[in-house]
Amino acid sequence: MSELAISLRGVVKRYGQITAVDGLDVSVPAGTCVGLLGPNGAGKSTTMRMLTGQSIADEGELEVLGFRMPGESKQARAQLGVTPQLDNLDVTLTVEQNLLVFTYLYRVPRRERKEAIERSLELARLEDRRDTRVDKLSGGMRRRLLIARSLVHRPRLVLLDEPTVGLDPQIRQELWALIDRLRSEGTTILMSTHYIEEAQRLADTVLIMSHGKAVAAGPPAQLVLEHAGSEVLEVYGAPSRLAEVEREAAAHGLSTRRTGTSVAVLGAGSVDGLEGERRPANLEDVFVLLTGEEIG
Ligand code: ATP
Repeated sequence: MSELAISLRGVVKRYGQITAVDGLDVSVPAGTCVGLLGPNGAGKSTTMRMLTGQSIADEGELEVLGFRMPGESKQARAQLGVTPQLDNLDVTLTVEQNLLVFTYLYRVPRRERKEAIERSLELARLEDRRDTRVDKLSGGMRRRLLIARSLVHRPRLVLLDEPTVGLDPQIRQELWALIDRLRSEGTTILMSTHYIEEAQRLADTVLIMSHGKAVAAGPPAQLVLEHAGSEVLEVYGAPSRLAEVEREAAAHGLSTRRTGTSVAVLGAGSVDGLEGERRPANLEDVFVLLTGEEIG
């Protein structure tokens, strides 16, 4: 069996009456990229917080890079990079100074600091901005710096919380290139995201959470085939026609999802008599089917 970067067994986290994480089992093999998907309130952030030791599980066992959490969280954190969702860069400092501060926080030895900063600048493609104050950077540059800052100590595992939220598509693609490069260098990545395309592009494995539980886990293509089949039939029409299609599909034992003005019939490759547009099934179909919610 390959080495696990993350292992959760029966993990439960409660907040009063709310069970935010409800018996979660997760195995992340070292060197893979896992996309954590789920609707609002599914328990993604709570899971992330337990992995960094910011939050303590009520039940179950957590290991990060072979260290038991929360007891050995200090050792785990030394080899862990965390990119928060909220930009908490120091805007009064330059790009290089922000990185330097983190070389101290992560205890990068003095003789390695310069090289660590150069490497991070290069990864984030911010070499020519090293002396720019953070408040003069564009949104995309800031986000690249935020990720680069979590990499100064060459972590074996990186946790990315919604790395591209709120960015326009072109900038999102720049971030994807950065994440892809990290992955190709063998860094293990756990990334929470609301963007299905992001998970489909970058993740080796996707974990879909709903109400604190894992409802599906596996490579994106496999999940699509397993839950939505190879083809989806998209039927457009008036609400009464759509309701009819839903009944017909149910009679064939097929799942459907409403998408505004259409009904998508999953796994419809083999059904005759239904007229509509055929398209390949995708991860969004699986997400909606399993969580009952549209992606945000
Ligand atoms: P989002 O995509 O909106 O960030 P999420 O999947 O990250 O959602 P969590 O933030 O982990 O979900 O929340 C899971 C559940 O636990 C929610 O019902 C939330 O209200 C609750 N919760 C999370 N943190 C706390 C807290 N500190 N105190 C009380 N309840 C909390």
